[in-house]
Amino acid sequence: MLTDYHIHVERGPYTVEWLREFKKQAEKVGIEEWGISEHAYRFVETSHIFMNNWVKERQTETMKDYLAMIGDAREQGMKVKFGIEMDYFPGKEEEISRFISEYPFDYVIGSVHWIDQWGFDLDEMKEEWDKRKVEDVWVEYFNRIVSLAESRLFDIAGHIDLAKIFKYIPTDDNFLLEQYQRVAKVLADNELTIEISTAGLRKPVGEIYPQPTLLKKCCQHGVPIVINSDAHCPEDVGADYRQAVELARSVGYSEVQVFNHRKRIAKKLG
Ligand SMILES: [Zn+2]
Ligand SMILES: [Zn+2]
Repeated sequence: MLTDYHIHVERGPYTVEWLREFKKQAEKVGIEEWGISEHAYRFVETSHIFMNNWVKERQTETMKDYLAMIGDAREQGMKVKFGIEMDYFPGKEEEISRFISEYPFDYVIGSVHWIDQWGFDLDEMKEEWDKRKVEDVWVEYFNRIVSLAESRLFDIAGHIDLAKIFKYIPTDDNFLLEQYQRVAKVLADNELTIEISTAGLRKPVGEIYPQPTLLKKCCQHGVPIVINSDAHCPEDVGADYRQAVELARSVGYSEVQVFNHRKRIAKKLG
């Protein structure tokens, strides 16, 4: 079984025609099940959760239109899952929980893109990396992944080592191992699924999220996986899946999770 649950259609209109482009690509590359996971911050309904100027400028969509597109597609016989990629902010658990409970999602991806007011994966905020100690940023980042898992608000943790995006990576292997260890344990304790994301291959780091040592630790702790592309255009649906499947198998995985109405079941990988 191959699935792709991390797809953004935000670069086009919320129409079935646009969705069909993604479906075509999914079929072409052998993805059996796929779903859309728009960024929650794009929707006016999250304006009380996400408050900074970068986000505010982009808060232009409504959940009503998003839902209508999925509804129309399903009416026309298209099998598309309804998901969302939700930014996790410590202290906003109640608001996030309320938002999630209002919509019939098949799955919710929880992601950390912000350390307070710093969007550390944004090109336009990249200089901030040079002003900080890399180890401190990584600890802050993983602290948020830990709280994200402990919140139990999400089904899938997105790109769990996103902090490596611009190659600001700690060089001390023991430091990294310690961080990976605590992250893998808390993911397992809270029964969260993680994604193997091929998006990292399209970023400066040029490497899948998460990197092999962290992924292996997750596998040893029994953390389930999905494979995702984080596509922002039809061409990227299912991108580089061969490499992702190989990586998953190499660290010991033989199953992926399939999501329906926020319940997961395991299927054979590949
Ligand atoms: Zn993301
Ligand atoms: Zn995404």
